[in-house]
Formats: sequence, C-alpha cells, structure tokens
Amino acid sequence: MTQRTTNRPLEVACPQCHKKVLWTEDNLYRPFCSKRCKLLDLGAWAEESHRIAGEPAMDETEIDEMILRQERGDE
Ligand SMILES: [Zn+2]
Repeated sequence: MTQRTTNRPLEVACPQCHKKVLWTEDNLYRPFCSKRCKLLDLGAWAEESHRIAGEPAMDETEIDEMILRQERGDE
C-alpha cells in the first residue's frame, strides 16, 4: 500500500504582487501574500466604486496607516 502524504501546501501567486504564496490554513489572507495586498486589492476595487461616487480613492499610504492603526488596536 502506497501511502503518500501530500503535506506540501499548494502554492499560488498573490493576485496583487504576484509573489508566491502558500495556500495554507495559516494564511488568513490567501490568495494574497499579506494583509496589505488584500487591502490593496480591496482598495483597488473600492476605487472603482468611489470613482462613480466621485470620492477620492484610498491610496497606499492610507492603507498602510489603516493597517498600523488596526495592529495597534486603537481607533
Ligand atoms: Zn502580495
């Protein structure tokens, strides 16, 4: 009986920066490599809808600040 343990996680490319990402349970941001890329992608998406509303879109700096605020835990 051949028992092959395929413990090797699937590798995907981050849709945002195209870096190789391991598709694991630990990776909360999959298929993105990081929270930052995930937010950037959401930001890009939001930009589309904001453009319609005529509001300024979130830029990378704002996203970075947002992440920092979240990580510190203050509002
Ligand atoms: Zn990425």
